[in-house]
Amino acid sequence: MSRRASEESPHTLPARSSPLTPSLVPPAPSTGCAVTSPRQSHRRASFMPGSNREQPELNAPMLPVAATESAPLPPVPSQLLTQNSPHIINTPGVREMRPALQPPGHTSSGPSNTVVPPNHTPPQPGVPSTTLPPGPQVPHAPISPFSSAGCEAQLTAFRARLPASLTLTPPHQQRLDVLQAAVHHNDVVFVMVHQIYCLMAVDPTQLPQSIASHPSLGFFKGMMDDMMGTNDVLHPGVREFFAHFPMRTQALANQFPFYYAAQERRLLSLIEHSPKYRSQMTQWVDRRLPPISLELILFLGITSSRLQQIAFRMAVRHINIRLQQTGVPPSVLLSLEQKAVEIHIRDVCTLAARMGVEPNILTDAAARQPYIDEVNRAGSARELRDLYSSCQPQVQPQMPRPLVQRPQGTAPATLPSQPPLQRGQPSNIHHPGRPSTAQTNSSQAPTVRTSLLPPAGTVLSVQRQANPACFALHEADLRDATLRAEPSGSVLYQYFDGFIHGPTRLPEALTGVETWSFDVSPDIWQRIPKRVVPDGNRGEPDEYQISTSNFMLRLRCVKSLSDFTLLHVWAVADTAWIPAGFYHFNEKPLQPRRKIHYGKDLPIDLTALVQEGSNELKVAVLRDQADNRYRNYLLAIEMIRFAAEEEIVEMCLKNTRPAAEVLQAIKSKISGTSFSRADDDDITMMQANLTINLLDPFAMSTICEIPVRSKVCLHNDCFDLVTFLHSRKKQGEVSVADMWRCPICNADARPNKLLVDGFLQLVREELTKRNLLNTRAIVVDQDGNWEPKMVPLGSATPDVEVPVSTPVVTNGLPAGGGGEIIELD
Ligand SMILES: [Zn+2]
Repeated sequence: MSRRASEESPHTLPARSSPLTPSLVPPAPSTGCAVTSPRQSHRRASFMPGSNREQPELNAPMLPVAATESAPLPPVPSQLLTQNSPHIINTPGVREMRPALQPPGHTSSGPSNTVVPPNHTPPQPGVPSTTLPPGPQVPHAPISPFSSAGCEAQLTAFRARLPASLTLTPPHQQRLDVLQAAVHHNDVVFVMVHQIYCLMAVDPTQLPQSIASHPSLGFFKGMMDDMMGTNDVLHPGVREFFAHFPMRTQALANQFPFYYAAQERRLLSLIEHSPKYRSQMTQWVDRRLPPISLELILFLGITSSRLQQIAFRMAVRHINIRLQQTGVPPSVLLSLEQKAVEIHIRDVCTLAARMGVEPNILTDAAARQPYIDEVNRAGSARELRDLYSSCQPQVQPQMPRPLVQRPQGTAPATLPSQPPLQRGQPSNIHHPGRPSTAQTNSSQAPTVRTSLLPPAGTVLSVQRQANPACFALHEADLRDATLRAEPSGSVLYQYFDGFIHGPTRLPEALTGVETWSFDVSPDIWQRIPKRVVPDGNRGEPDEYQISTSNFMLRLRCVKSLSDFTLLHVWAVADTAWIPAGFYHFNEKPLQPRRKIHYGKDLPIDLTALVQEGSNELKVAVLRDQADNRYRNYLLAIEMIRFAAEEEIVEMCLKNTRPAAEVLQAIKSKISGTSFSRADDDDITMMQANLTINLLDPFAMSTICEIPVRSKVCLHNDCFDLVTFLHSRKKQGEVSVADMWRCPICNADARPNKLLVDGFLQLVREELTKRNLLNTRAIVVDQDGNWEPKMVPLGSATPDVEVPVSTPVVTNGLPAGGGGEIIELD
């Protein structure tokens, strides 16, 4: 039954089950106010991913209909935490611990000693002094050069000058509220993070060099878009103000070099961690337990308490969506969220108090071992676990992983109430010089187990950072094969390109043995590479000489409740092996490489085992007969193809979409026709024009030379083909197989999925003629005319007295946006 699936099925995946359909625009208003313009209310559902997926308000009891389980991160109901969220902002504990803002030696809060940024409005009489009663000593806390009251006054004055139509619209109101709260609570890290985030949207050329050149800047933007709501929907004047609030970064760096350096370091740490944001959030959602404060610092580099609160609440909401699927009533979930947030706030204060720092700037020093040990012993994790256990009696949530940072080879510190996995392992590690906390009580007494096996339900801890060289030493023979490109010295790119056996469930695997048979014809056999040194040095990985005519075979398993009908959905789905699944290929046992050792489940290479003629795969699952989870998995044998750079460039150029066609699609998008679906009248677009970014997301400074995007991308922004190829991770001379995701929206972007945008090529030619190659974006109107997007230059407080009726220009397809529209090619 040798067959190869055709490239793309004509069917589109049912929209709501797509795992890669982030929302088109920032979520619905999170404030309690029901202020919407008539136009907005008229088109209430126009941006919703689905007709019946309501975006609830922050405190609304209803939760949205969740996406399928395979969705890594469904749209979260609301991101911004405003002052309407009393649990977050007006926290007495946080407020009390706020230290004085003034530099050491400063004894008065008088304005004469306070450095005031430009455009500063003097504090109004009655504005509370920023000097607080003596709090904990903060020897190494960064000193803000700003007066909190001064910044607040500046913000208030700006707000007062805005027309009510802006200040009362949700994105503006939320953003102003959260920024005001950050200033009020002296969260200087948040202020700088927010400023840089907005500066990226306003004028990336003004970004500090260290930030502008950071390779993870795109991930940072995606993360911030997710948490704050995209900047695209803000009025340009407001954006401009945010980008220079409280003062221009250059001036900041010049006038306050030490302060600036400290904040920049934290910001860079945040950017550095940002690529892990989605996977980390997914992990927290999967374990059904939101992160403790220290996890947010260690895993995501979030040291701003305000940003922590936003991230925490996002995790809680995602988890609640899952819980709602299991039948937990919304009222219970709402109460759960409130309690979880209270625990989080206590958690932040406890950690800050132990470190002797202010809670609004938890420092990265938290990553030091003593704090980790203390937090491992602390009660927040336990409190959260108890809270979530009470809500899902039938499902025992996993404990947060113990935070491990220790020399390799020493015993891991475990959370106190987690069953010890090793006999006689001490329940905690005592550090001389640090007082024991109240949590060290009898519950932590070492327990001695007499049985050989751990108790039922024990969950093995997974390494935060996979280190197979240490934890999978016994699987050394399963290492990836060494691939050498032919001709030598060239670089080859490998990617999944169809199936030998398409994704299939295994209905009989529990009761019997599932058997797949397929033939390998002489033609195919010739193209399968053979090991260079067959059965050579024992212990050495297999080695192959690869040319562009070769392809390899691999076995891959994916957990999914829906059957995949589109290759591009399968291509980006994570590998997940069936628990207790056993595989034999041509009578040889296969060993899946699993998450516990490698950080994630990895495919099995079949190339060395495949034979000419008849081949046979057998699968069995050894589980209790009542355990039907194996039915949630799909198994497939994939073909991996190889291509050289020139070949890919040629293939993409052949796939050029003509300018007229692209322009017509843009016009349809603007007029809304492409979003109208026969079965869903609610999906329409509301915009007068479309902004298209021209800069390559990797370089962030040049217009794409060969502008490409994936056929399944919903945005018009492109990335540069050659830069994209060169940035693919390589092992030796051959790229890694599973690194083909769109840098803008994460969609499948394998070489055969890429198309060249003929319209943007024309735009580039035209801009070259007009000597405008430094243009960063263009605006296309509904008639198909385009112009370079003007970026206002000059003052930090731009004129915002714009006519109310001016339609806000929204990029209908912001980065990460997608919605449910699947373009058929
Ligand atoms: Zn994309």
